[in-house]
Amino acid sequence: MATFTDLGLSEPIIRSIVNMGFEETTPIQEKTIPTALEGKDLIGQAQTGTGKTAAYGIPLVERILPQAEQIQGIVLAPTRELAVQVAEELNKIGQFKRIHALPIYGGQGIDWQIRALRKRPHIIVATPGRLMDHMRRRTIRLNEIKIVVLDEADEMLNMGFLEDIETILKEIPEERQTLLFSATMPRQIQNIAQRFMKEPELISIKATGVTVSDTEQHYVEVSERLKFDVLSRILDIQSPDLSIVFARTKRRVDELSEALSKRGYSAEGIHGDLTQSKRDSVLRQFKDGTIEVLVATDVAARGLDISGVTHVFNFDIPQDPESYVHRVGRTGRAGKTGLAITLVTPREIGMLRLIESVIKRRIVRKPIPTIIEAVEGQQRLTMNEILRVIAEEDIEKYKGVAEELLAENDSVTLLSAALKIITKEPEAVEVRLTEAAPARVRSMGNNPRPQQRNYNRDGYGQKVDTWARRGKGNDVRGGAGAQRGRDSKRNG
Ligand code: ADP
Ligand code: MG
Repeated sequence: MATFTDLGLSEPIIRSIVNMGFEETTPIQEKTIPTALEGKDLIGQAQTGTGKTAAYGIPLVERILPQAEQIQGIVLAPTRELAVQVAEELNKIGQFKRIHALPIYGGQGIDWQIRALRKRPHIIVATPGRLMDHMRRRTIRLNEIKIVVLDEADEMLNMGFLEDIETILKEIPEERQTLLFSATMPRQIQNIAQRFMKEPELISIKATGVTVSDTEQHYVEVSERLKFDVLSRILDIQSPDLSIVFARTKRRVDELSEALSKRGYSAEGIHGDLTQSKRDSVLRQFKDGTIEVLVATDVAARGLDISGVTHVFNFDIPQDPESYVHRVGRTGRAGKTGLAITLVTPREIGMLRLIESVIKRRIVRKPIPTIIEAVEGQQRLTMNEILRVIAEEDIEKYKGVAEELLAENDSVTLLSAALKIITKEPEAVEVRLTEAAPARVRSMGNNPRPQQRNYNRDGYGQKVDTWARRGKGNDVRGGAGAQRGRDSKRNG
């Protein structure tokens, strides 16, 4: 892998990359940065989590003149969260060159944005709809734009932004550079490229890529009715630090996050019907670990880069393989391993097989975890908490009574009783989820068919092992459950 110094970047940019902690380029960055620096149009295709933002962000910032105080670059992104995140990354890349990027998105007061625009950002990162608003009001002019980036182009098309994108591209001077980045390359994107780009170079990194293959992937076959129990048990067993749970509809997101909260997890939901400030605050709390389980729809979580997500749960299997790749890409980012667990109802096994054939990987079947495993998971958390207290807290004043107790009982009996008192045993929570249509493979379209021959009956009856907490041993930090352990101790 190349280092950034090999790419002919200027000193301030190198300095900021070092500052960001990037040591080597990712494959897409290595290939696209030199081409983009030459001013050529290009299409970059690589999976989620492979560093596409910096792949265009570095050359973009490099090619902007700091002294020219006008908008010279524009990035179009599908969602407000992504616009904010991309602008943050561009500002980091541009910190020493003093390049300023401003996110512009719907849901934020337009007057506020107009004031921010007066400070003359060099780059704006916009959702298409809101940019169109500003174009109509003439509060953003596109006549000095030299570089345009379409980020997550496939997702923008999915969200129906095609016409807006066309309108915007027509308004930008033709002697510009156009960069297009996307995880997938449907026909429509090739059309846009043909119409709005000048002999674009196509740089495609094979989808066997980093994220999905670095992520352990499991599935559990379970009826709709039992899904919530299975999810809670796995959470109890594994006590993830940060996890994202995907549900099919906004209603289900609300219902699930409520049920998880009732069951004692710090969970919140995020979807498109929430106000911008609510979404911002949920994401902030998730990033700083106040919320440990984020329940989300596909759209709300698309493109989000939250480091430290250890588990992705597909509470509902996604409707198509691309979404699966996107969801699973929320964990195991940039070389770290993660775990993705998909709950599959019997009717949805076909979709699971299709996903396997697209990602060219087997997703490992796991049994429905037992209550006993869940309880053991909780006990392990208590144990970790005890070890933490030994390491970190002052317990001198408890020792007198401890010695008294030990004089008359054996230590295993004593400790077991203490564990019983402080371990929070999972409580049953009554959950009624709104039904959502199961994901089924449709026969129309050009989706590849699942390769049935690989999955004969033996495939279904494959060896299935048990659940275990993931390898962190005596991790004294604990996860959601450890927190609950502490809470219950306080309450009790
Ligand atoms: P994509 O847009 O392809 O889904 P992102 O641009 O969001 O991926 O990057 C994913 C994560 O990888 C981010 O946390 C980013 O900071 C990190 N990252 C990007 N490039 C590098 C690099 N060269 N070295 C280390 N981490 C990187
Ligand atoms: Mg991206």
